[in-house]
Amino acid sequence: MRPERRSRVCILGATGSIGRQAQDVCAEHADRLEVVALSAGSDVAGLARAARRFDVRRLALADPARAHDPALAELPEGASVGFGAEAVEELAATCDADIVLVAIVGAAAIAPTLAALATGARVALANKECLVSAGNLVMDAAEPGQIIPVDSEHSAIFQCLRSGAPSELARIWLTCSGGPFRGYSRERLATVTADEALAHPTWTMGPKITIDSADLMNKGLEVIEATWLFGVDVSRVSVLIHPQSLIHSMVEFRDGATIAQLGAPDMRGPIRYALGYPERWEAASSAPDWREMGPITFDAPDLETFRCLGLALEAARVGGTLPCAMNAANEVANAAFREGRIPMTAIDEVVEAVMEVTTPTTAESLEQVLEVDARAREAASLAIGMIEL
Ligand code: NAD
Ligand code: MG
Repeated sequence: MRPERRSRVCILGATGSIGRQAQDVCAEHADRLEVVALSAGSDVAGLARAARRFDVRRLALADPARAHDPALAELPEGASVGFGAEAVEELAATCDADIVLVAIVGAAAIAPTLAALATGARVALANKECLVSAGNLVMDAAEPGQIIPVDSEHSAIFQCLRSGAPSELARIWLTCSGGPFRGYSRERLATVTADEALAHPTWTMGPKITIDSADLMNKGLEVIEATWLFGVDVSRVSVLIHPQSLIHSMVEFRDGATIAQLGAPDMRGPIRYALGYPERWEAASSAPDWREMGPITFDAPDLETFRCLGLALEAARVGGTLPCAMNAANEVANAAFREGRIPMTAIDEVVEAVMEVTTPTTAESLEQVLEVDARAREAASLAIGMIEL
């Protein structure tokens, strides 16, 4: 039986890797989902294409400099478009969606996520930085069950947790492909280029998360994301290297039974699950034929080479505003690496330097979080300037 009314969907960050795949899922299930609002950072042409695809009139662009872009002429007739970070937040607050999918990259997603939560809409959350930087604020703003994870590992954990009660959970096994530089020494990691790092073995993703996946900061961010989403201490989240990326994560219960979620590496799976939950909707492609799969292997992460992961675990243990400063420093260092200004191993050096000068406190307000974020960005820029010289 089909629902009488389609769910109204707002996609924030509609032009990115996750955003475009979310568009595909919305098109695939057009009888269940109605796209009503879209936002992007600065990609006017991409936003215009998405708006025409679903005939959407409520739009926002985070980059205020796009207000005079000639590509705005390609928007559907009668479209209203706001400009600037506040316009994205306002769109989330006023678009009257049943589901807001947050696929913005970086800490820029914090305010729009809080705005979406305040409306009572389901938040399908792909963005992880908002939980790393402002996990307590985001979780305090959310009703139980209001956030459905989209990050593939967290979607897997969310699905596995349906096998037992929260009190029966012993440990989360967070799987990780190991990235393109698995097995590298620290010396060799120092020589890799942004182009090499952008060629991820399994997933096609946006540039920032592709670099985070290559230096394993992504897994560190995901550990912190898991602690907030599932209310577990960092000591109960273990990172497991699994290069085939077929097991998307596992949950171990107190009797030792370990439940895994497997599937093809395709982000449309977790996106579809978050939009359809608690139902499972049909997908165009089926599961792999497991008889044709090679061996599945596991290993421990190499914290000597991939120091970002260790720093993120430390930030998670200390808590307070330290993960926020760490995330901001990483956003700046990650961009500097992509611009060819610093080597990959300098990313963790910058993050560590910023963590050292940060005095962690309890994050009590959005203003305070944004202030810590801004100061950490300044400190990271200074540290990068010293390395560049
Ligand atoms: P992306 O760079 O491909 O897309 C980012 C989107 O956000 C674009 O639409 C862009 O226009 C918009 N944007 C950029 N800066 C903005 C700003 N300041 N304000 C508002 N909007 C802005 O990134 P992505 O790979 O799609 O990742 C998005 C988020 O999802 C990240 O937090 C990432 O960690 C998470 N995620 C991505 C994947 C993946 O496979 N790509 C998987 C799991 C989680
Ligand atoms: Mg992930």
